[in-house]
Amino acid sequence: MKPFPHLTETKDPWLLTPGPLTTSLSVKQTMLRDWGSRDPDFVAMIARIRAGLVALAKGGDAYTAVPVQGSGTYAVEAMLTTLVPRTGKLLILVNGAYGKRATQICDYAGRAYTVYETPEDTPPEPEAIAAILAAEPDIGHVFAVHCETTTGILNPIAEIAAVVAKAKRKLLVDSMSAFGALPIDAKTVPFEALAASSNKCLEGVPGLGFVIARKAALKDAAGNAVSLSLDLAEQVKALDAGGQFRFTPPVQVLAAFDQAMAEHEAEGGIAGRGARYTANRDRLIAGMRAMGFETLLPDALQAPIIVTFRMPADPAFRFAEFYDRLKAMGYVIYPGKLTVAESFRMGCIGRLGAEEIDGALAAVKEALAAMGVADPRPAAT
Ligand SMILES: *Cc1c(COP(=O)(O)O)cnc(C)c1O
Repeated sequence: MKPFPHLTETKDPWLLTPGPLTTSLSVKQTMLRDWGSRDPDFVAMIARIRAGLVALAKGGDAYTAVPVQGSGTYAVEAMLTTLVPRTGKLLILVNGAYGKRATQICDYAGRAYTVYETPEDTPPEPEAIAAILAAEPDIGHVFAVHCETTTGILNPIAEIAAVVAKAKRKLLVDSMSAFGALPIDAKTVPFEALAASSNKCLEGVPGLGFVIARKAALKDAAGNAVSLSLDLAEQVKALDAGGQFRFTPPVQVLAAFDQAMAEHEAEGGIAGRGARYTANRDRLIAGMRAMGFETLLPDALQAPIIVTFRMPADPAFRFAEFYDRLKAMGYVIYPGKLTVAESFRMGCIGRLGAEEIDGALAAVKEALAAMGVADPRPAAT
């Protein structure tokens, strides 16, 4: 039996991408309804989603979840600009596009920051973070990306959290592409706030971001925000007081997310979802290596989210043609955007299982044969 037979009905291609992702038919079907935003059923749905998110982070009573309309970046921007005071200063850890994006957000918002940048295939060193925090006492917050989706590298979030806590600073995490598949436990990985979205590992549809934050941090944040719609302190006040969003909520997106969270729990929560993605990653990498492809990252740094492959050296390999051929066979992949090497990416997340990974590998083999690429190895480094 096919694990996800609905796609043979809808004929949508499988998305081996970093998001938006393939979602289940049952998630999509929940959107065939209208809700008034003051409807008690809808208000109860928001409360259920918020409580479920705090539970996934093991946040207990000290944390709350604040949904915010928009894509994941809206949630990151809301987190940074609400929780870092106007006169505050951040240390931003950069090893890819999403760390860089945090610096852009701070440029727009006029927040001071120091950057600690490592190459895209290199995680930050906890000792180096400790040294910067010791040298710059005016830094109050540290921003880190959990899984940097640019390469698929897993940053050492527990070690980062430990040095930040030891230096008595506050950690803000972009866990966008990890939350729901890789554990982050507020009790052992102390964070001030974490941002993620509906359409990555929780397998909802795009349109909703959320921030899981210490309640105390949001209380202290009044007056920090530089944007009305992204002011999390005001957003949480309205949600706590009346159970409602301040401005029009994406009702269908929330309904789909509620269903997606129930399916996440039914799959075994973070452990179950993480296990499927890990099996997808291992199957994908083994199959691609068997053909001659090479991964950018060593296995020890590779998160089970998205895999970067080095571009084959054979001049007969043209990425645009490779992409189009895979798409025609029902598999969508993603270009790379690295400075360290020419590459492309294949995702392991979304409603994909062993059968879809095997299908993607067969499609890659067929595309190589059609292009006349006998050996997809990259140029020697
Ligand atoms: C997807 C992603 C985001 C948010 O991107 P949007 O396009 O705004 O949804 C932020 N950080 C990381 C690490 C991501 O993978």
